[in-house]
Amino acid sequence: MSTDSPTTAFRTTSEDLGFDPDALREKYRIERERRLRPEGNKQYVYPDDVSLAAQYVSDPWSDPIERDPITEAVEVCVIGAGLGGIQAAVLLRDAGVDSMRIIDKAGGFGGVWYWNRYPGAQCDVDAYIYLPFLERMNYTPSEKYSSAKEIREHCEAVAHKFDLYRAALFQTVITEVRWDEANQTWLVGTDRGDRISARYVVVCPGGLQQPKLPGVPGIERFKGSAFHASRWNREFTGGDQDTPMDRLGDKKVAVIGTGATALQCIPHLAEAAAHLYVFQRTPNLVSARDQKKTDPDWFASLPPGWQLERQRNFLAATSGLRPEIDLIDDGWTHQTRFLTFTGESNAGEGASTTYEDAELEDFKVTERIRRRIETSVHDPVVADALKPYFRFFCKRPGFSDNYLASFNRPNVTLVDTDGAGPDEVTETGVVFAGQTYEVDGIVFCTGFDTGNGYLHGKGFDVVGRGGLKLSDYWANGMRTFQGIHSRNFPNCFFMGSTQTSITLNYSHCLLEQAEHIVYTLSECKARGRKTIETSQSAEDDWVAAIHAGWTPSRKRFAIECTPSFFNNEGKPFDPNGHIYNYVAADPLSFFDSLAAWREEGQLRGLELS
Ligand code: NDP
Repeated sequence: MSTDSPTTAFRTTSEDLGFDPDALREKYRIERERRLRPEGNKQYVYPDDVSLAAQYVSDPWSDPIERDPITEAVEVCVIGAGLGGIQAAVLLRDAGVDSMRIIDKAGGFGGVWYWNRYPGAQCDVDAYIYLPFLERMNYTPSEKYSSAKEIREHCEAVAHKFDLYRAALFQTVITEVRWDEANQTWLVGTDRGDRISARYVVVCPGGLQQPKLPGVPGIERFKGSAFHASRWNREFTGGDQDTPMDRLGDKKVAVIGTGATALQCIPHLAEAAAHLYVFQRTPNLVSARDQKKTDPDWFASLPPGWQLERQRNFLAATSGLRPEIDLIDDGWTHQTRFLTFTGESNAGEGASTTYEDAELEDFKVTERIRRRIETSVHDPVVADALKPYFRFFCKRPGFSDNYLASFNRPNVTLVDTDGAGPDEVTETGVVFAGQTYEVDGIVFCTGFDTGNGYLHGKGFDVVGRGGLKLSDYWANGMRTFQGIHSRNFPNCFFMGSTQTSITLNYSHCLLEQAEHIVYTLSECKARGRKTIETSQSAEDDWVAAIHAGWTPSRKRFAIECTPSFFNNEGKPFDPNGHIYNYVAADPLSFFDSLAAWREEGQLRGLELS
């Protein structure tokens, strides 16, 4: 397959297509160049770096909990009470683990769904595959796409049903996780003076947890209300997740950012605020949401085992495998059905086989999205400014039925910074191109700390055999076997974006990891061994396979993408970058290979002692 002559194949077809692929490719290149910053990920600041840390990270959702320090020994300590920690804990309970601690700095279960309570917060993935354990919980999601509130309440219900509250320590920040060689256990210390020794630790700290802010000068100076969307300031806006914001009628508000979060809260701010200024650096791909109430008869008719079947069908549909039936039948599956990105991988019958074919299919999808903007936004200049020029999955695509129409309102101004972002924040407003936009509040929808390492900003390190710090061991990229084990960190299981497979349904990925961890841990116990750890060679092979997965076509796709956290802000081959460490295989094959490994029962690649 050649990737060297991308243009000639299209010349005869551009009239039929209604666009010129060569011109589009050039436009993508120009827009990308405009956005590349030499400092990459270092353009951002993290709340810990600025003097107003508490304002951006403190917990608005729970009253402070008072408790005495705990000293105890448990069998398993689960770090993180989000969807990963919850699913791991439930499966550990199933496996008979009674002695367990679950620790989180949040005031409750839910992870990202605990923190993100901004108006309009909702999951973009079909609720029937995203909410864990629906069959066991006998729960019917109210709509096809659940609100953040429904997901959080479901997490709480799961925790109640499987007796997880008894194990939970909330508002507790881990300060160290250290291997105790003499006792062959982990010692977990916290900011409350707890000393917990655990035979096993499951580390699931969350990948979109620590807010990040743009490195715009003057943020600290702003005298109005400034907050990150994941720590919404209801004192300022009024309202909550059930009632509209009622304190903004006389307020001017700025939103910085137009990613998946901004798309959801902007329509609500547009309705509530006297005036809304949307500071856009790069427009996003926005497709129709098409929300639906759940049909109770349909839901009741689903046969046992339906959730896993539906989860797997989604993975197949969104990995270019083209299953005969599309059970999810939504914007994700329709748009990704014909996308193979590089043309080389996972493609079902009839799929593109060259990079150029794959690119052309991608152009068709993004052209449809751009056409939708023209029909949704009345002012052609604003419509043009809202058009994104990059390939699907260069950024996280979004879905909304009311985002674009918000720009038809007289009280909404799009401040298109054309790839630059605002210049400055003053005491009273946001400055761009010489103009100060005076505002009462600034909402930062600028994303989360990614690309700086697995534990960056989490407040603790994992210290394994011989005092080896995970942050040092992984300084030049993760080193795992199966994305779960790391040499010199026995009985420690890592979850999350850890040399595993890319899935759009992250909840499902975490379930697969949890299942694998609980199997491995249970086997260690059943075989009467104290520790389980990857062999050096198994880990080396896994890391080598990750590097080898970067084929020329994958590299080309990553390089040609406009900067975002997906490609580590234009530096995709930094081994600490977000996508760098994913395995190249499609998620279905990857999870099946883990299942086959378990089926084999040899614990190949692991050493027991
Ligand atoms: P993102 O990182 O996706 O987006 C950040 C936004 O901030 C981008 O528009 C970015 O612009 C902008 N930005 C950054 N720096 C500046 C600057 N200096 N000036 C102006 N704008 C700037 O964060 P989100 O919170 O939107 O989403 C994070 C992730 O959370 C998503 O990828 C998704 O995985 C998840 N999510 C899921 C949801 C769901 O399922 N429904 C909903 C919300 C989030 P630019 O593009 O130019 O970098």
